[in-house]
Amino acid sequence: MTRLLIVGPQGSGKGTQGVRIAEAFGIPAISTGDVFRAAVAAGSDLGNQVKAIIEAGDLVSDELTSAVVRDRLAQADAEGGFLLDGYPRNVAQVAHLDEYLEGRDESLDVVIELSVPRDESIARIALRAKEQGRTDDTEEVIANRLGIYERETAPILDVYRTRGIVAPIDGVGTLDEITARILAALEARGLARPEAA
Ligand code: AMP
Repeated sequence: MTRLLIVGPQGSGKGTQGVRIAEAFGIPAISTGDVFRAAVAAGSDLGNQVKAIIEAGDLVSDELTSAVVRDRLAQADAEGGFLLDGYPRNVAQVAHLDEYLEGRDESLDVVIELSVPRDESIARIALRAKEQGRTDDTEEVIANRLGIYERETAPILDVYRTRGIVAPIDGVGTLDEITARILAALEARGLARPEAA
């Protein structure tokens, strides 16, 4: 059972690294941003509820987001562990997740904190916006999202630090270098990947 959370500002590469780490452990990577974007693309009820919020770079309500995550974590493939990407995103969501996991007699094992300097995240987001044509990646929206990260998301790391479960990772380097750093940090915390065990 491996229960992970990856936290980092937009443009830190957390989505890419999250998928790689989840693959290495054979667990699903659950990205709330991806769930919301897929819902918008599908034109579902959920998508219609969140479309304008996402396009402005604001946060979807804690209640709705936590309900979406609970549904996802209740699916069979998350029984053996999971990697969360983009949730919890503020202290209220930490409390929601704690309550849900406590009900399952579970808790997070490690919180991967991926750090990159602000300039580098902005450059990476701008590049991705060009490559993927993401409508939530205009300059104004990027500044809004980074501001929200600093004000609302960074404080969740303080909560997890008091629990002693944060693994700080330098997010500057090649994709492979960063993946190797994360795997080494997890191993140092007693989480060896199935193949390496
Ligand atoms: P991301 O790809 O993680 O940056 O998420 C894209 C957008 O989805 C965010 O800018 C928010 O509008 C929304 N979103 C993703 N995760 C959350 C969350 N945990 N709480 C609230 N809104 C979220």
